[in-house]
Amino acid sequence: MDMIFSCPSCKQQLEAETSMAGNEIACPSCGATMVIPEPNVQNIRADPISASAGAKEEHHFSVPVHDKPTEALIKKTSPPLEVAARADGEKRLRVKCIRRTDCVEVGHDRFDEIVSDLLEKIGEKNIVSITPISYTHVDLGSRQLMTDFGVMLVYKG
Ligand SMILES: [Zn+2]
Repeated sequence: MDMIFSCPSCKQQLEAETSMAGNEIACPSCGATMVIPEPNVQNIRADPISASAGAKEEHHFSVPVHDKPTEALIKKTSPPLEVAARADGEKRLRVKCIRRTDCVEVGHDRFDEIVSDLLEKIGEKNIVSITPISYTHVDLGSRQLMTDFGVMLVYKG
């Protein structure tokens, strides 16, 4: 590695290997005798300086990287608040659609039974609304479009 230093008598900028530090030389410009200084941050050649500056910059970059997990930790403290807010409301509003064809088992229509069971499971006080629906589907047997009915339940659960 090279370093730059100045001749103490003529201020001529000189360059030497850092390994030369401590050696007595004659200034090539004015001929004065001087001792090559020890290398330090100021007199190390420009290229290594920019290289070490780059290393320092990398270090600066690593600081924001360190900041991010901290931010994330701060953010992590807010979800429990949302959870708490949701716990206040206790139940979520849910929708359940039951199509009659889904309740037919080997020719046996269990629609009323299934809806009744579900209503019992949800509980009367949790039911917000019950809306009849009609829909069209292709009948597997006749391959024709069939209109059928079902029910849409809105409930808290
Ligand atoms: Zn000199």
